[in-house]
Amino acid sequence: MLKKRIFFFTAILTVLAACSPNAPTIQNDTSVESEDELVARALEIHDRVLTFDSHADTPLRMIEPGFDMAERHDPNESGSKVDYPRMIEGGLDAIFFAAFVAQNIRDDEGNSRAKALGLQMIDAVIASTEANSDTVGLALTPDDAYALEKEGKRAIYLAIENGYPIGDDISNIELFYNKGVRYITLVHSTNNDLADSATDSKGPEHQGISPFGEQVVLEMNRLGIMVDVSHGSEEVFYDAIAVSKAPIIASHSNARAVTAHDRNMSDDMLKLMAENGGVVQLTMLSDYLRDAPENPERDAAVAALRAGMKPFGEMNQEERKAARAAFNELNEQFPVPAANVNDVVDHIDHIVKIAGIDHVGIGCDFDGGGGIDGIFDASEVMNITIELVRRGYSEQDIEKIWSGNLMRVFRDVQRIAAEIQSSNV
Ligand SMILES: [Zn+2]
Repeated sequence: MLKKRIFFFTAILTVLAACSPNAPTIQNDTSVESEDELVARALEIHDRVLTFDSHADTPLRMIEPGFDMAERHDPNESGSKVDYPRMIEGGLDAIFFAAFVAQNIRDDEGNSRAKALGLQMIDAVIASTEANSDTVGLALTPDDAYALEKEGKRAIYLAIENGYPIGDDISNIELFYNKGVRYITLVHSTNNDLADSATDSKGPEHQGISPFGEQVVLEMNRLGIMVDVSHGSEEVFYDAIAVSKAPIIASHSNARAVTAHDRNMSDDMLKLMAENGGVVQLTMLSDYLRDAPENPERDAAVAALRAGMKPFGEMNQEERKAARAAFNELNEQFPVPAANVNDVVDHIDHIVKIAGIDHVGIGCDFDGGGGIDGIFDASEVMNITIELVRRGYSEQDIEKIWSGNLMRVFRDVQRIAAEIQSSNV
C-alpha cells in the first residue's frame, strides 16, 4: 500500500512539476526553495504524519444499494466524496464515519426508527471494513490507527451525528459504544431531546443541554465516547464544558471571527476550548469558510427549490437523486465561487492565534456538504498540508493539526472513562 501511495505522490509531483511555475519561495531560514521543492517536502510530511479526518457522513452513501466503498467514484457524477481508493490517493490514513440521522418526530415511533437507521448505517460501516480487510480496518482506540497505518491500512472509526437515535433510553449509548461508536454529536440542525441546535429557526428550547442531555454527556464520559458540540448552540457549548468530565470536541466547526456563521465558534469559545483541553476540527464547507458574494437571484432560486422539497434525510433514493440533479442544475445556472485552501488555513491561523496549536484539527464533512475548490473530495486532502507548509508550519505542528490534537483528546476521554469506571466498582 505504501508503495502505491508513494507512486501516487510521485505522479502528482510529475504533474505539478509540469504545470507549476518555478517561482522561488523564501523560507524562514532565508534559503530559497522552489515551488516544486516545497510541494515535495509537504507531500513527504503528509506521508509521514497520521492524517485523520474527524467527520464524514459517508455511511449515508454506504447504505445505498450497490454503493461499493472499494470502487473509485467520480465526485461530479455521483456526488460521493469518500471511498477507499480516494482515501489512498489523498494519503488520508484515518477517518470518522458518522452515522447521521436527520432529526424527525420525537416520539417512541420516531425514536425507534432513528435508532434502527443509526444501527443500519453502523452495521454497513462494520460490514464494509470486514469486506475490505486488506485495505482498511475498524478502529476502536487511538493506538489502532497507528497499528493499521504500519500495516498499510486505513483506520475507520465510528461516530453518530445527532443524538436522536439515543431516543429517551440512556442504555442505547452503551449499545452504540459496544458497536464501536467513539463520538456522538449531541444535536443537528434542529433541537432534539438532548440539546438546542445553533440553527433551529424556532430558537432555543432547553437553553443549552437538557437535563436528559446532561445524563447523556455523563454516560458518554463513563463509557469513553467523545462529546461533540458541532451543530449545538453557544449555550450547548458552554453547558458541555461545564458538565463533561472529559475534554470535548467540535468535530466540524470553524472560526466565527474569520467567517460570521452561527455554526462557527467565537474567540471566547475558542479560548475556553483551549482551557478545556479540547479540539476544534476545521471543516470544508464554503459557507463556514468565507463570506459568500451576494447573489439574491440565486438565493431566491435556492429558497424556491428547498420549499418544494422534503428534508434530505427523509427522501428515498430516487428523490435524493432528483434533488442532487436539481441542485447541480441550479449551481450551473447561478455559480458561486467556492472557498479554497487559503480560506481553510486562514481559519487555522486564527484558531492557532486564539487557542494555540494544540486545539485545532481537520474534519472535512465530506458526504455531508463538505468539499471546496482544491479539497473537493478525499483524494485532495494533501493540499491542506501543502498550504500549511507554505505558511511555515513545522512538521510537528502539522502532525498536531492532522491527528495529534484529536488523539490527545481521544486518549484523555478514554483515560477518564477508565478512572470513572474503576472508582464506581
Ligand atoms: Zn454536520
